[in-house]
Amino acid sequence: MPTFEDIELELEDKETQITIKTNIDFEVYCDTCGAGICSNAKTVRSRNRGELQVRVSVCDNCIQNKEDELNDVIFELSEKIAQLEEEKQELEKIIKLNNNL
Ligand SMILES: [Zn+2]
Repeated sequence: MPTFEDIELELEDKETQITIKTNIDFEVYCDTCGAGICSNAKTVRSRNRGELQVRVSVCDNCIQNKEDELNDVIFELSEKIAQLEEEKQELEKIIKLNNNL
């Protein structure tokens, strides 16, 4: 689970101002497939302004889903190519027969 560490919170009322430091743990989920992707996320602070940032790499589950979809398309295209190759050979036979007449 990603954590922002040592986050300073300033609390104040009319007379007192208190600053406390705390850690903020949070969970990260893929908005596309809903998988938990905490291990793909890390917390950083921006270089110039020191703002809190979360950096998230692409969801492994979504990558796998896209690879599966692509493999299905590749398989369908391979079958189509094989079918067209058979049709081509049939047509070549017919042409050869016609040329021999
Ligand atoms: Zn995903």
